Amino acid sequence: MTAPPRAVYRRLLAAYGAQGWWPVTVKASEGPVYRPDFRGALTERQRAEVCVGAILTQNTNWRNVETALRGLHRAGVWDLGRLASWPPRRVERLVRPSGYFRQKAKKLRLFARHAVSRGTSLRDWLSGPLEALRAELLSLWGVGPETADSILLYAGGRPSFVVDAYTVRIGRRIGWFRRHDYAHVQRFFTGRLPASPRDYAELHALFVELAKRHCRSAPVCSGCPLREVCHHGRSAASGA
Ligand code: SF4
Repeated sequence: MTAPPRAVYRRLLAAYGAQGWWPVTVKASEGPVYRPDFRGALTERQRAEVCVGAILTQNTNWRNVETALRGLHRAGVWDLGRLASWPPRRVERLVRPSGYFRQKAKKLRLFARHAVSRGTSLRDWLSGPLEALRAELLSLWGVGPETADSILLYAGGRPSFVVDAYTVRIGRRIGWFRRHDYAHVQRFFTGRLPASPRDYAELHALFVELAKRHCRSAPVCSGCPLREVCHHGRSAASGA
């Protein structure tokens, strides 16, 4: 029998500890950092940084995003108003390390312009009715479900479960679902877990950690904390 998401979450938390996502910059000289013990609220600048990072992380790894974020910090572009008004070429140069830099610069400027047009802080904007807000984010060019949910969850502190390729890979191997379309996988989790932003964030981060350590494209099931409760892991152990 496979374990329910809550039991898997407990196992991963016991194995790896809290991950403290999403990384944000506290001191400009240090770049974005993970903060497992942080319990407060993000500053407006940090919320903006999460939104920018959620767009920059599309189709690239976090290290590249971090380089781009450091560059944006050095250039002092932490106000979405500034980002919206900066010349496109300048934004492109700054986000170049994250790849697809022309597209991403355009996405960032469009997002920033939209956020500024709301005429309120990110904190207040992202506190609005969840479904309408999600639909609003999805209507923006370059914002897909994973990006929208990352912004809602990590910048807004809203219970919007993030599904990424690792979530799908791990869930399928565990035996939770066969379909892998975003809405189906998201419903699988939201139907089985309490709507807690903190737990949603931790589970997402723990899946990423598991995917890095064990559940790679070629899984390394030996030593995996989920082996006993994972369909694929048990089959591998029995030689089935
Ligand atoms: S037991 Fe193997 S397939 Fe299952 S989660 Fe762990 S690494 Fe992935």
